[in-house]
Amino acid sequence: MNAPILQVQSVSHTYTSGNDWALNNINMSLHGNSIVGLLGPNGAGKSTLMNIICGTLYQTDGSVSIDGMSLGKQPLQARCRIGFLPQQAPLHFELTVDEYLAHCALLRRVPSRLLPAALLRVKKECGLEEVARKLIGTLSGGYRQRVGIAQAIIHDPLLLVLDEPTNGLDPNQISEIRQVIRKLGDKKLILFSSHILGEVQSICSRIAMISAGKLVFSGTTDEFRQASGSKHIRVRLGALRDPASLENLAGVSKVKKVCESEFLLHSEGHLQSVIDTIIANSIANGWELQEIRTEGKTLEDTFATLSHPLSDGIVVVSDAPKSTLTGDPDNREQS
Ligand code: ADP
Ligand code: MG
Repeated sequence: MNAPILQVQSVSHTYTSGNDWALNNINMSLHGNSIVGLLGPNGAGKSTLMNIICGTLYQTDGSVSIDGMSLGKQPLQARCRIGFLPQQAPLHFELTVDEYLAHCALLRRVPSRLLPAALLRVKKECGLEEVARKLIGTLSGGYRQRVGIAQAIIHDPLLLVLDEPTNGLDPNQISEIRQVIRKLGDKKLILFSSHILGEVQSICSRIAMISAGKLVFSGTTDEFRQASGSKHIRVRLGALRDPASLENLAGVSKVKKVCESEFLLHSEGHLQSVIDTIIANSIANGWELQEIRTEGKTLEDTFATLSHPLSDGIVVVSDAPKSTLTGDPDNREQS
């Protein structure tokens, strides 16, 4: 597999000198063009992590690299690969959209011969063509946020980091911003933070969730749903009335008859193997299988479980390296 576009290794951060960790040993390794939702309740540490990833805050411990470039050791190479829209968009209300974007291009070292094409590209991608000559201060919240995204991609970075980009917008504006982000996700890795589960679910293919400074989950949206552990299968069998036949199947620990032909099965085992067993038995014994599905917990259930202060978290960091809790003190890197 290629080097990850974003690699966060054992990052911890405290704003005070004590042991009050805003972030505690975060590991993250993200590849490819996709939209990853950084989910967490308010105060979880999302902005702290994003500021560290974008090099606007120095972490207490750990390291970050972008496309193999260490933010600490090769800051210029790493930072030119990142585009950032912080929680407070860094806009200049007294400039027009064109003036502001040209100014940002200069700061991002876009060569002047490439400037016209870069301006056209970001205005198209963010739907800003019609307001290009308007003062930013006169634009609606939705358009201001589009300008915020446009400044973050003016240098065509590999990684785009968006800190709660839909916060404070009305439903129409939210939907327009999501459209812009979805399209950009075909070409870039986007790390997108939100405290709203439905939002992350609607546009992200992967979720990284932090709670009280710790990474409590990393995986696909489906894995997130399963993370609290669905243990139930609902099955409708046209020709089976006696639950005893189901109780005897491997992996089934309890069976409840819901109605005439419907049963709820409890299993502590691997649900897919139990489903396979039921299908095979139904064919062999003529049970007339009509419907079979797992009874999943909702995403909200999983979010609430993982956000709970007493939760141990269910970490499915399938693609991140394992490391010690605070990293090797002799090998620390300040980026
Ligand atoms: P989120 O973005 O998930 O809402 P933050 O990263 O802003 O969370 O905050 C994480 C924790 O760090 C919170 O407890 C917050 O109070 C604290 N914190 C954030 N910024 C500062 C700061 N500048 N000084 C001190 N504490 C801070
Ligand atoms: Mg925040």
